[in-house]
Amino acid sequence: MRLPSYGGERVLLEVTDVCVTFGGVRALDALSFAVDEGEIVGLVGPNGAGKSTLVGVVSGALRADSGRVRFGGRDVTRLGPHRIAALGLARTFQTVQPFLGLTTRECAVLGATFGSADGRRTRLREAALSADEALAFVGLTPQAAMPAEQLNAAQRRLLEIARVLAARPRLILLDEVLSGLNTAELERGIELVRALRRRGIAVLLIEHIVRAIAGLADRVVVIDRGAKIAEGPVSSVLADRRALSAYFGVPRGQSVP
Ligand code: ADP
Ligand code: MG
Repeated sequence: MRLPSYGGERVLLEVTDVCVTFGGVRALDALSFAVDEGEIVGLVGPNGAGKSTLVGVVSGALRADSGRVRFGGRDVTRLGPHRIAALGLARTFQTVQPFLGLTTRECAVLGATFGSADGRRTRLREAALSADEALAFVGLTPQAAMPAEQLNAAQRRLLEIARVLAARPRLILLDEVLSGLNTAELERGIELVRALRRRGIAVLLIEHIVRAIAGLADRVVVIDRGAKIAEGPVSSVLADRRALSAYFGVPRGQSVP
């Protein structure tokens, strides 16, 4: 099937006029944007802007009050998380999930069985192969047999990436997965996301770290109170001092790394 064209590339994810309300709080307010195949889009905004809510809606964990989500040319607005994962969309969780006494490798195998890009049930042997490949990709092979709860904070982030990668997705939603890493770990994380793109995987990168957004994103979408307030190439959004000081906490006058 031919997909509609957006910005000269093929649209993979298309979010149109999505609204979500929690009690009286409007978490998403008619939000629209798209991610092309193989593209890295940075999604930025202050705490409470609605970024994680968007991840929930797109991945099927949360139901939108109105609006539409299309993925790979299909309307997925009303599909549940397993069905959407099976179409090739994977998300990380901002708060680390409990490991239930599993080893690092078992966590990655679970990730591989949750979704498979061809929509068929993944066999355990294939899942194990995918999991081992994903662990090698993020550099966690030496920790494979270790109980996952013994991993340090940075290794847990790597496992979170391996877990979603093991499902062989076409799009990964990374929800602040690089936050809290030290300088060396951050550089490593940035290299990893670049390697995802080289594999043709599109990424929606939710991140407060300017260095990560500047080094990775092809395009940035800025949201505030659930609504899109700016969108464009990284260079033009990062050149906007006002947006910078408001959304990345960079004091006026300070240079961007
Ligand atoms: P972000 O990820 O950008 O920090 P969130 O999507 O987590 O923002 O939250 C957006 C808004 O929705 C916030 O005001 C938050 O308090 C509210 N919110 C998020 N999830 C829930 C929920 N499950 N129940 C009630 N309010 C929520
Ligand atoms: Mg969040």
